[in-house]
Amino acid sequence: MSRASYDVAIAGAGIVGAACADELARRGLRVAVIGEDIVGSGATAAGMGHIVVMDDSEAQFALTRYSQQLWQALRPELPSNVEYEQCGTIWVAAGDEEMIEVHRKHAYYGERGVTTKVLDAKELKNLEPNLRLGMSGGLLVPEDAVISPSSAALFLMERAQALGARLMLGAKVARIGEGTVCLTDGTEMSAEIIVNAAGVSSPDLTPGIDVKKRKGHLVITDRYPGFVRHELVELGYLKSAHALSGDSVAFNVQPRRAGQVLIGSSRQTGAEYKEVDHAILARMLERAQQYLPGLSQMATVRTWTGFRPATPDNLPLIGPWIGDKSVFLATGHEGLGITTSLGTGRILADQITGTKPAIPVEPYLPARKAKEHAHT
Ligand SMILES: Cc1cc2nc3c(=O)[nH]c(=O)nc-3n(C[C@H](O)[C@H](O)[C@H](O)COP(=O)(O)OP(=O)(O)OC[C@H]3O[C@@H](n4cnc5c(N)ncnc54)[C@H](O)[C@@H]3O)c2cc1C
Repeated sequence: MSRASYDVAIAGAGIVGAACADELARRGLRVAVIGEDIVGSGATAAGMGHIVVMDDSEAQFALTRYSQQLWQALRPELPSNVEYEQCGTIWVAAGDEEMIEVHRKHAYYGERGVTTKVLDAKELKNLEPNLRLGMSGGLLVPEDAVISPSSAALFLMERAQALGARLMLGAKVARIGEGTVCLTDGTEMSAEIIVNAAGVSSPDLTPGIDVKKRKGHLVITDRYPGFVRHELVELGYLKSAHALSGDSVAFNVQPRRAGQVLIGSSRQTGAEYKEVDHAILARMLERAQQYLPGLSQMATVRTWTGFRPATPDNLPLIGPWIGDKSVFLATGHEGLGITTSLGTGRILADQITGTKPAIPVEPYLPARKAKEHAHT
């Protein structure tokens, strides 16, 4: 019996695999996606769904901004269950010294065409009356949005399928390489290109890539419509996001369409168990209550954990793998993979089809690690 053959086979049906499938199918390629369980499981099911422009590095800014614009363009086509809400982000300054960072961010975004507004204490209080008294102000980024990540992944996958992509669920990839995908049940498939989009499991399929699990906790409350109106994030968030070791928490709270309040976030490296860690959960909630005291009175309905696929330099791996010319990587998106899934799909498809990408891809190429090693 001849084995199935595709232009591109994608291992992993999270939001990154779905976005890659959608983009590659739109370019007329014969695509297969293999997912071990359901579409949008893994980190995608655990994520907050904040579509956010970030400025930790030029490369991070470029990919988040490009992706955000792709989400905006897609917005008219998104079904209502994706719950796209352009609520904006407010980066909250808890003290006067944090206003320095507000002004820095305002200038950085402004120079790059992103509209923001510096808020003084009174304006902040008017926009978010439930923040505790004594906040110094903040930065409003009106174009940031929130979505429901799993529904978005499903939408992208269904679009890919409508364009002819084949979706194989309940199928676990055992090995990839040299144009062959081997499933754990012994099935083999041929593909010109194999994309490793297996999130935190990507190193199992491509040994040697440095992607580690970074655990996070989230809590969602019962319905309290209007309690928060924007995604509220403390200015210290990036420090927490980029701590490469140890545990950290940061205030990050999101309004959901149904009136629930989604409370994050924590980061733990080296915590491989998926069970709730009550010590860090307590720290996370305490931090949130320091900003929003009213949270302490609220009923919560669910707590969960997830694992972000993290790289040492906090940038994803998007492009050809140096160890095998048939393998491309689309992994390592850490806490920004919902946002950057669309940009990832585009620049991966650009590289596969030899199209000029809209943003420089060098910072995300897996080969950057090899170059670094060559210079040390
Ligand atoms: C608590 C938390 C909050 C977050 N908040 C945000 C946010 O607000 N905004 C944002 O942009 N990002 C956020 N993220 C990050 C985001 O969720 C991830 O970066 C993103 O979901 C990664 O998507 P992925 O498709 O690469 O991986 P995953 O979603 O993990 O998908 C990988 C898929 O591959 C499958 N798979 C693995 N191995 C195999 C195999 N061998 N064979 C077949 N299938 C396989 C898995 O089952 C899974 O379905 C958050 C993450 C967490 C944990």
